[in-house]
Amino acid sequence: MARLVIVSNRVASPKERAAKAGGLAVALREALSEQGGLWFGWSGETAVDAPAAPKIVRSGRVTYALQTLDPDDQRAHYAGYANGTLWPLCHYRLGLLSVRRSDWEGYRRVNVTFAASLMPLLKPDDVVWVHDYHFIPLASELRALGFTGRIGYFHHIPWPTPEVFYTLPSHAALVQDLSQYDLVGLQTEHDVRALLTYISSEARGWIGPGGIVGLKNRRFRVAAYPIGIDTEMFVKDATHAQRSEDMRRLRASLAGRTLAVGVDRLDYSKGLPNKFAAFDNLLERWPEHRSHVTMMQVAPVSRGEVSEYQILRRELEESGGRINGRFAEFDWVPLRYLNKVFPRNTLATLYRHARVGLVTPLRDGMNLVAKEYVAAQNPEDPGVLVLSRFAGAADELTGALLVNPYDIEGMAEAMDAALRMPKEERIERWRANMEPVSRNTIHAWCAHFLRDLGTEADAAIAGP
Ligand code: UDP
Repeated sequence: MARLVIVSNRVASPKERAAKAGGLAVALREALSEQGGLWFGWSGETAVDAPAAPKIVRSGRVTYALQTLDPDDQRAHYAGYANGTLWPLCHYRLGLLSVRRSDWEGYRRVNVTFAASLMPLLKPDDVVWVHDYHFIPLASELRALGFTGRIGYFHHIPWPTPEVFYTLPSHAALVQDLSQYDLVGLQTEHDVRALLTYISSEARGWIGPGGIVGLKNRRFRVAAYPIGIDTEMFVKDATHAQRSEDMRRLRASLAGRTLAVGVDRLDYSKGLPNKFAAFDNLLERWPEHRSHVTMMQVAPVSRGEVSEYQILRRELEESGGRINGRFAEFDWVPLRYLNKVFPRNTLATLYRHARVGLVTPLRDGMNLVAKEYVAAQNPEDPGVLVLSRFAGAADELTGALLVNPYDIEGMAEAMDAALRMPKEERIERWRANMEPVSRNTIHAWCAHFLRDLGTEADAAIAGP
């Protein structure tokens, strides 16, 4: 079996316990331990005289290689091009797009640095799997240094439609970079169609069966691999949660009221102001929910140094305060808003007890919280998922109440319907959601991508 090499911006440290690391980090570490491998990424540190070689740490069959970056390059790469340009672009937020040549140059410089420091560690028959939008040009740079082995890329966030993608001055260069991979994985069929339409219309490439693409002298494949969660672990955590101390405290604090829960990073893609507005609209239009429903929104601060995120935070504090000021009673606060990170088992408790799960991003690659909420339900008395049609998860979770997060009144109506839904319908909808969540786990996703990278890449290379 070929050695696996994973590249990602952040590397889960060997010591990070499973309870803390996310599902993806755990699944990747398992794949690496199974077949032996290397995990390459940023060390999390910057230094003006950053060494050219990465720091190497070994743990069992996995080797970690951590590269330190020049501070200006790191800023232009991470805060600049990756999160100031590609993030808003891929989430369809053109008003928030920042386009600076210096960011693009810094982004490319970091990819050159990464390729140069990874190349001496590679063996010719290694299989390299690159994760996310921080490293789209990495395959180009590795090919320029002479690596001819297999390289796959997975894009965890949405891929924009061509009209949106054209707003990026570097659009042609990025797709040229993608063509240097053997396999390009996206979250949904919608994303695949968006990229293939661009390739056939703008880049004048050809598209063969099964997403095989010909572009200039390259053949590669583009396909959808919707990411999953560690379903079994979530089911187990949620079942244990039933009798936990957290559950006892949660129940006592709610005093018999119904809980609706949201869990989102404090990011403008998550549509939190609209969700708050919909809850306000619900309480306004259906007074019978007042004093009977509590909404809890967990929203850990993310990218807190960036001004757009600071503005969003202030906006939510204001609107959350307004809702509570307007509707609270001396013994009931409608909205509990928490800027805190919770461990998985506490989230499992909140999901399990919540009659409604509110997942309403304006745009999201997949949204794992939606799948976690489904997995955590009690099969005999499950809650209802209210889900944005613009989350990748909406393709699979056909039992959810789908909403348009721009339509505040429509979302309030879906919340009301979820709160009133009879048990039989809740069970039927939950079953429809649980089927893909049980089948398409994070482990299945990982195995599927690696199998395709190892085998079907041959077909791509051979062409139709
Ligand atoms: N999460 C967590 N603690 C928190 C909030 C979120 O562990 O307090 C986890 C959550 O369980 C999920 C992930 O963070 O696994 C968020 O993934 P998602 O795809 O929903 O959104 P992203 O943050 O990647 O955009």
